[in-house]
Amino acid sequence: NSFLELNLSRPLLRACEALGYQKPTPIQAACIPLALTGRDICGSAITGSGKTAAFSLPVLERLLFRPKRVPAIRVLILTPTRELAAQVHSMIEKLAQFTDIRWSHSLRSMPDIVVATPGRVIDHLRNSLSVGLEDLAILILDEADRLLELGFIAEIQELIHMCPKRRQTMLFSATMTEEINELVTLSLNKPVRLEA
Ligand code: AMP
Repeated sequence: NSFLELNLSRPLLRACEALGYQKPTPIQAACIPLALTGRDICGSAITGSGKTAAFSLPVLERLLFRPKRVPAIRVLILTPTRELAAQVHSMIEKLAQFTDIRWSHSLRSMPDIVVATPGRVIDHLRNSLSVGLEDLAILILDEADRLLELGFIAEIQELIHMCPKRRQTMLFSATMTEEINELVTLSLNKPVRLEA
């Protein structure tokens, strides 16, 4: 049970070491190898389980080996609040510190990875002629139960329709309700279910 067994590249293993992570948490051990195969994942995971690194490490790994032809958003991470977006952003920044993956809070600068609330992404896409989701490879719905509680379902549906059909989607939620299962059906393709 070590990070070395998870098929991650050296820059990412170095980051885990720098952060003092000695071994993967259960959700990381289950999620990372599976996510690297490209499968869709529906994970029951609460804050504190290590779920942020569980989806961020495979995202970074996949970006390392997909050189892009044009600047584009390749990964979109939707969070219920701006505070959570900032936390996820800072976690990814630390995990990506030894890579040259580009990304930022600002959609205008064409980062590889965007972390934001659904409302904020839609505002930016409406106001921009150049930024779109047509090159998106990975969509992540973080804290899906809170996304629904905060009333973001219409925005999420709108965004899903803008994403390419061929993509990887991962959804994480502390609880699995009927509404979450409807969102799973809408957004994921033959997902593997994981429990932390
Ligand atoms: P999360 O559940 O993603 O909110 O993460 C909770 C906390 O656990 C964060 O402060 C992470 O930095 C930390 N963490 C994540 N993965 C590990 C790990 N494998 N070993 C030790 N701490 C970790």
